[in-house]
Amino acid sequence: SHGSLSDKNVYDWSSEEEEPDGRARPIQVLLVKDDHTFELDEAALSRILLAEEVRDRDVVAISVAGAFRKGKSFLMDFMLRYMYNHASDTWLGNADEPLTGFSWRGGSERETTGIQIWSEVFLVDKPDGSKVAVLLMDTQGTFDSQSTLRDSATVFALSTMISSMQVYNISQNVQEDDLQHLQLFTEYGRLAMEETFLKPFQSMIFLVRDWSFPYEFSYGQEGGMKFLEKRLKISENQHEELQNVRKHIHSCFTNISCFLMPHPGLKVATNPNFDGRIKEIDGEFINNLKVLVPWLLSPRNIDVKEINGSKITCRGLLEYFKAYIKIYQG
Ligand code: GDP
Ligand code: MG
Repeated sequence: SHGSLSDKNVYDWSSEEEEPDGRARPIQVLLVKDDHTFELDEAALSRILLAEEVRDRDVVAISVAGAFRKGKSFLMDFMLRYMYNHASDTWLGNADEPLTGFSWRGGSERETTGIQIWSEVFLVDKPDGSKVAVLLMDTQGTFDSQSTLRDSATVFALSTMISSMQVYNISQNVQEDDLQHLQLFTEYGRLAMEETFLKPFQSMIFLVRDWSFPYEFSYGQEGGMKFLEKRLKISENQHEELQNVRKHIHSCFTNISCFLMPHPGLKVATNPNFDGRIKEIDGEFINNLKVLVPWLLSPRNIDVKEINGSKITCRGLLEYFKAYIKIYQG
């Protein structure tokens, strides 16, 4: 059922096994443990993907991936708000409403590498008359050591393989190491896929947060594309390594795009008591949020997950998820 997000409180969840109050919340379906092994919560994943209303629907799987503390959950809470308000023109709600959903407040989150899925899968009517199931995923990693980098790469690879759209959330700029990380993720992914599937990944969106050069490249998608074109350009006088990273990224995805987001303002970034209400967020950020979220999620724009050219249902996605995990568990 589609309740309003405001009557859900996800901060008090403790058990990953049960939803005693039936409220939607993030579920950790994949966890990288301290000994670098992977744990898939197959029961939880099955509960979500095999729910009667969704299991035979074509699935749109949207993943937001990136390092911790870069505003992923904050963004995803707005994505949830859009979904719960059925993509209406007033989806942002009123200026005083605290933000809820994926917990994003400083300190309230365990920094675990893995994948969280929103427990409610949304049914959406596309303009062509089809009804699709939309799944939201939060993929997070740490990059502070060689071993966690490998863990993160594997988790990113998995979420890229599972999703129809991967939003790569990065801070301030697209740095060379962001591209190198992406090459590592997609190499892990391709390695696993080449055994069985030849199809490349679907959509990759570079989402740059706190973009501070709007006079060079304007906020939004158009400025983003121009910026990314420049950043991913391959030229003769580049070092071979830089060329290879770029070629590899181009060869992996059917669609690559970029969106430049402004800084949300000091209250968001620094005030520990900030609860997400719009009136305390910079207007420029909100204006761009109003463009970004429908651009990502509007019924017209969402794409069904395809593997080897075939559309995948929720039930199918569960099977792929399990099969891909096995590859990494070796
Ligand atoms: P996550 O770990 O990537 O999910 O990050 P969170 O969404 O939990 O946000 C971490 C912190 O960054 C919180 O204090 C947010 O209020 C703040 N934050 C959210 N979005 C932005 C942003 O676009 N820029 C900056 N500078 N801070 C943000
Ligand atoms: Mg988060």
